[in-house]
Amino acid sequence: MVTNNKKVVMIAVATTAAVIVVLASVIAITTPQGSSSNRTSPTSESINGQPLQDTSVEERLRIMTTFYPLYEFAKAVVGARADVDLFIPSGLEPHDWEPSARDLERLRDYHILIYNSATFEPYIDKVKGLGYDDLRMVEAAHGIMLEQDPHVWLDPILAKEQVKIILDVVTSMDEGNSKYYADNAKAYTARLDELHAKFEEGLRDCERREFITLHAAYHYLASRYGLEQITIAGIEPEHDIPAGKIREIVDLAREHGINVVYAEEGIDDRLVRALAEEINAMVLILSPIEVLDEEDLEEGKTYITKMEENLENLRQGLGCR
Ligand SMILES: [Zn+2]
Repeated sequence: MVTNNKKVVMIAVATTAAVIVVLASVIAITTPQGSSSNRTSPTSESINGQPLQDTSVEERLRIMTTFYPLYEFAKAVVGARADVDLFIPSGLEPHDWEPSARDLERLRDYHILIYNSATFEPYIDKVKGLGYDDLRMVEAAHGIMLEQDPHVWLDPILAKEQVKIILDVVTSMDEGNSKYYADNAKAYTARLDELHAKFEEGLRDCERREFITLHAAYHYLASRYGLEQITIAGIEPEHDIPAGKIREIVDLAREHGINVVYAEEGIDDRLVRALAEEINAMVLILSPIEVLDEEDLEEGKTYITKMEENLENLRQGLGCR
């Protein structure tokens, strides 16, 4: 994939040289006031350090996103007019992932790297230290994250903020497509509004507001809809569980009449199952939507459909009508 990309760029550069004269005359005829679709990015004069002879030749914006929801949000904004890739290999859990030297090398081919936050992707500091001057780094949780909890995308309203941050950066680097990007962002934001309305409606009338999960990913979601997450582990899913924690959760579960414990995909669920057995509860899935694997994608699952599944499972666990 990386090598292919490089090849494509090299071919593009070669082709550019060959067709430049033709293009230059076409542009002179069709856009007398100068092309309005040119990017104004700092990288528009070069590709991988190779100068383009004519900056009026359009270059597609290439965007790397660190994990699935940001990939979906960026795709939704840029549609067919820019390229979006996913940095983390499919199916891997992002909290613990570290890019290899080869992964880092891939980033040379991109104009933008969109990540969530340095607490979620700690390797970002390493990327900053690489000195890739043409790579614009964008923190998509900037200004919306509270303390150390990175899971902002699980609140549809904060997801809209992330879409806005993405829209702002792609627009600033590709002004010619700004209307197209703005329209796309508006359409996707409308879907997030619908999702938010479904959550509000679906979680309005429930027997209880407390739910038990393994990993503390649902602070933003819970505070948006007036729920309370009781978590077995911390912000990262596979940290050690403090002694006495299970006892405390068992007591809370009995106090609130909780009869569902939430597990998540791809994480060892033995602890969740043991706890469920102890309190005579059912195990359901609540996804932090950190990973969409090949199977999910083949089934046409998206951030939005996964959130809808989360809503259904929450409704079941909270006894909502
Ligand atoms: Zn997480």
